[in-house]
Amino acid sequence: MDTKKEQKGWTNDELEASVDAYLSIQARYPNDEKFNKSAEHKLLQSGALANRNSKSIDYRLQNLSALFDELGLKTIVHYKPKVNIGSGIAARLTKILESKGLLTPSYDLPSAEGDIQNRYVKQAKTQDFVSEPDDDETPQQGVTITRYFVRNSKIKGWILDNANGICEACDQPGPFEMDGKPYLEVHHVKHLAHHGKDRKNNTIALCPNCHRRCHHSSDREEFTDSLYKKVKRLKRQ
Ligand SMILES: [Zn+2]
Ligand SMILES: [Zn+2]
Repeated sequence: MDTKKEQKGWTNDELEASVDAYLSIQARYPNDEKFNKSAEHKLLQSGALANRNSKSIDYRLQNLSALFDELGLKTIVHYKPKVNIGSGIAARLTKILESKGLLTPSYDLPSAEGDIQNRYVKQAKTQDFVSEPDDDETPQQGVTITRYFVRNSKIKGWILDNANGICEACDQPGPFEMDGKPYLEVHHVKHLAHHGKDRKNNTIALCPNCHRRCHHSSDREEFTDSLYKKVKRLKRQ
């Protein structure tokens, strides 16, 4: 039953609050434990979703289950995927997930990766990279408008930390500073789009020149071969 205010379209803030709630529930109940839905919805209603009733919050979170499922992300089993998300809403939700660094378009272009990495560097400050992260499973992927890979930002953090501002190909510091460190980009030696894995042994920190060389130069194959020889951590996949 829609009330007047329920009929208004969802704002980006409202959608983002739903995504945040979904991720937060997942983080708190990682093994599909039962939780108090109405308490969660009330919490949302006390903030960004003050204009939404519990039923429409429930519906939106079910939408998110459908989207997460489609993208190959883990879903909350207690929100059954409601598939009839409007395409506009799906696109906006996908953008929000992307902005949170959970997704990145599968085309493995330096510019795209650079973007993601910058975003990552900002998040990195709040994370703890003292311990070496475990290698992750094959990046999950799903299909919507384009294919997406879910990246493990801990791997990127570790790679950048480990490189400490020095390009692992040419041994020169990044060409300029960002957040107090020479700027480097993270490259998947076997591209994710070619089913490369998001693992430390397939990931390298490069200056923008070496990164472009990997993707676009006429000697990109030989150059990539030389990386496998130079950086002992790398393993062919
Ligand atoms: Zn370099
Ligand atoms: Zn790359």
